[in-house]
Amino acid sequence: TFRIHIAALAGQGERRAVLLTFEDLSEQRLTERMRVDFVANASHELRTPLASVLGFIETLQGPARNDEKARERFLQIMRQQALRMARLVDDLLSLSRIELKAHLAPQTPVDLGEIARTILDALVLMARERDVTLRLDLAPRPVVVAGDRDELLRLMENLVENAIKYGKPGGEVAIRIEGGAEASFSVRDDGPGIAAEHLPRLTERFYRVDNAASREAGGTGLGLAIVKHIVLRHRGRLTIESVVGEGATFRAILPLLAEVGR
Ligand code: ADP
Repeated sequence: TFRIHIAALAGQGERRAVLLTFEDLSEQRLTERMRVDFVANASHELRTPLASVLGFIETLQGPARNDEKARERFLQIMRQQALRMARLVDDLLSLSRIELKAHLAPQTPVDLGEIARTILDALVLMARERDVTLRLDLAPRPVVVAGDRDELLRLMENLVENAIKYGKPGGEVAIRIEGGAEASFSVRDDGPGIAAEHLPRLTERFYRVDNAASREAGGTGLGLAIVKHIVLRHRGRLTIESVVGEGATFRAILPLLAEVGR
């Protein structure tokens, strides 16, 4: 990739000299660029709720000083905004921890079925709030990978949470664990799905299809970036399939732990 700079130099009319500089945006420069963008995005994401909290504090110290009702309402909003900042900081920390360990292969045998049951139990209430039915299809034999249990819990949690949040209210979320040549963990929802043009960018940090819907649902925009990094550290791959209007399927495919349970 090149960036071209054009500068007009001395001279007049047809004799005017023009300098073209070609700047090579090598791989390294792009990575540096992404890092700078990331810091800018993260700061912006933190600044928005922070500005809101500061605004309410000023109102409470000033015009609304003696307004009992307003105080309750404002404190409630401030709490929401502070929680949002806390979630964001937690996700940023998770992401950098996972990235730091990127070169270390995770080693513990982890049974994906057991992880899936744990996540289902943890998310039953959230599903009930949206009247979503959770279905779990397990392979007949345990599907075990060499992994990091906490990270795999996180991976499943993020995907199932998204399916509940963005799927159809009153719909169904189907979670499936399959063995075979590789281990596969998939989450399918019957919601609005995702248009093809968004799919390649979906795992980028802070990329959202619908900003308002994501914030409304309490999203940080980092969930799928975390998922991607966990899958990569486990030497696996992530596939996303979607038909607009029919739902989306997210699938993590991971290498099996050789010879376990044989
Ligand atoms: P967020 O915190 O916004 O949920 P994610 O990284 O988890 O961030 O997801 C990025 C975006 O992908 C979401 O904002 C949403 O627009 C879209 N998305 C994720 N999962 C689904 C899904 N199951 N159905 C439709 N859209 C989804």
